[in-house]
Amino acid sequence: MRAVLSSGSNMGDARAFLRSVLDEFDGEVVRASSVYATAPWGKTDQPDFLNQSVLVDVDDSPHELLARCQKLERQAERVREERWGPRTLDVDIVWIEGHTSQDPELTVPHPRAHLRQFVLEPWLEMDPAATLGATPVSELLAGLEDQGVRKL
Ligand code: ATP
Ligand code: MG
Ligand code: MG
Repeated sequence: MRAVLSSGSNMGDARAFLRSVLDEFDGEVVRASSVYATAPWGKTDQPDFLNQSVLVDVDDSPHELLARCQKLERQAERVREERWGPRTLDVDIVWIEGHTSQDPELTVPHPRAHLRQFVLEPWLEMDPAATLGATPVSELLAGLEDQGVRKL
């Protein structure tokens, strides 16, 4: 099963937390995007984020994949305080090939992916032909205002 993950960090050693995602999926990574510096989304009074996306090919079920993502967040000692607030590591499942789900525990495609430059831009970098639903990711991205996303 192929899936796109989106990782973000704006606390502690952000580079190391992003690397922990690549390490977890070592051998299952099809492609990894560059690291991007991005202005915070949704809650703007906090430090900038580093974001990276990874295309993985795993034998897991969707919920098993989510469990692996959440394990990485726990290992980063993520504390959930306020919605969209600062965090050591967030690992979201953006898209799973051939799979959709409306389950609040795991909604796929990610319900806010199409609104986020920090998700769409790294995804497009990994796969210029990517589509979200029926719409090319390139088209979704072209329709967004600039949100302050810079490739490092
Ligand atoms: P956002 O989802 O807007 O990016 P967030 O990543 O900060 O916000 P979290 O606190 O990480 O939100 O996750 C809240 C819940 O979202 C988790 O408990 C998880 O079960 C659920 N969830 C639903 N769909 C997904 C998905 N596609 N990827 C990751 N978590 C998801
Ligand atoms: Mg998130
Ligand atoms: Mg999350």
